[in-house]
Order: sequence, then structure tokens, then C-alpha cells
Amino acid sequence: MAHPVINADECIACGVCVDTCPAGVLELGDSHAEVKDEDSCVACGSCQEACPAGAITEIVED
Ligand code: SF4
Ligand code: SF4
Repeated sequence: MAHPVINADECIACGVCVDTCPAGVLELGDSHAEVKDEDSCVACGSCQEACPAGAITEIVED
């Protein structure tokens, strides 16, 4: 299993990662993106590459 780690303090809630993720892992909360379905993450790294704020710091593989 893998999932991204989102730094809530750096996230600007733009929603790009939510739109970019091919697996529907992420959702936009009130003030930052959140991981809603980490079991679906395929560790492609697209969200990390797309984030304009550098708020996705790593893709963790459990
Ligand atoms: S690494 Fe890929 S599958 Fe996982 S949350 Fe990011 S965009 Fe989605
Ligand atoms: S792309 Fe980055 S800044 Fe935008 S919602 Fe996702 S984590 Fe936050």
C-alpha cells in the first residue's frame, strides 16, 4: 500500500492533486487536500509532481 503525505500548512487547496490523481485517492477538505482512499494509491507520483505548492512531500509505501 502507498499513499501521499500532504503538508497541510503548505497546501493552498487548489485541487490540482485531486484532479490529477488517476485513482481517486485524494479529496479537497475545508482548508487542504486530504487522503480519502489510500488503499487505491498506485504510487505513480503524479500528485507530487503536479502540486504547485510542494505540499506533497513523499509517497509512503507501507
Ligand atoms: S501517487 Fe498517484 S495514485 Fe497515489 S495519490 Fe498520488 S496521483 Fe494518486
Ligand atoms: S495540489 Fe498541492 S496545494 Fe493543491 S490541493 Fe493538492 S496538495 Fe494542496
